[in-house]
Amino acid sequence: MKKIIALYGLAAAGKTTQAELLAKKYGFYQFGMGDRLRAEINSGSELGKKIADTVASGLLVSDDLITQVLQNIQEPAKKDGIIFDGFPRMIPQAKLLDKILEEAELELDLLILLDITIEEAEKRIANRAEMTGRSDDKDKAVVNNRLEVFRQESQPLIAYYQEKGKFVKIDGSKNIEEVFAEIERNL
Ligand code: AMP
Repeated sequence: MKKIIALYGLAAAGKTTQAELLAKKYGFYQFGMGDRLRAEINSGSELGKKIADTVASGLLVSDDLITQVLQNIQEPAKKDGIIFDGFPRMIPQAKLLDKILEEAELELDLLILLDITIEEAEKRIANRAEMTGRSDDKDKAVVNNRLEVFRQESQPLIAYYQEKGKFVKIDGSKNIEEVFAEIERNL
């Protein structure tokens, strides 16, 4: 069974929802980068202050600051696997993750793309904005930045994992249970 997995996809593709299900069912350690960044910002730390403007704008936080956030990770050794959600999002992060895992004598088994259209992402983000009040979901310009970042970074990132035979694309437009079942078929 594949036990070190990363979920990738457009904003609102369902990454965190599926990561939570995997963590619950299989005892995986869950690492959601967006959630970590928001927690760091809410803590009011110096690092959080440096991150806040970038997250508010929908652009990607710099590698240097991402590295600092990663240094705060607890040792996940006792868990049965790891599910990354929203990380890596670009090639330098993929290389950083390779290095971190290698140091722990681990390696990523699979990057799973939860594939949805831009129209579906926009619809889901608008719904989520009403439900959770996330400020980066409410502002059209910020949403567009996030969609544009994906457009720019996704092809190289996907190619990086395809070359290693560690990439799979799943239809993320189906309902939560169907997407989860499809993920399980690929583990
Ligand atoms: P998410 O919760 O995954 O939608 O991420 C929210 C925001 O956090 C993104 O728009 C970025 O500003 C930032 N972010 C999340 N993941 C990353 C990452 N891997 N690298 C850089 N910035 C990130």
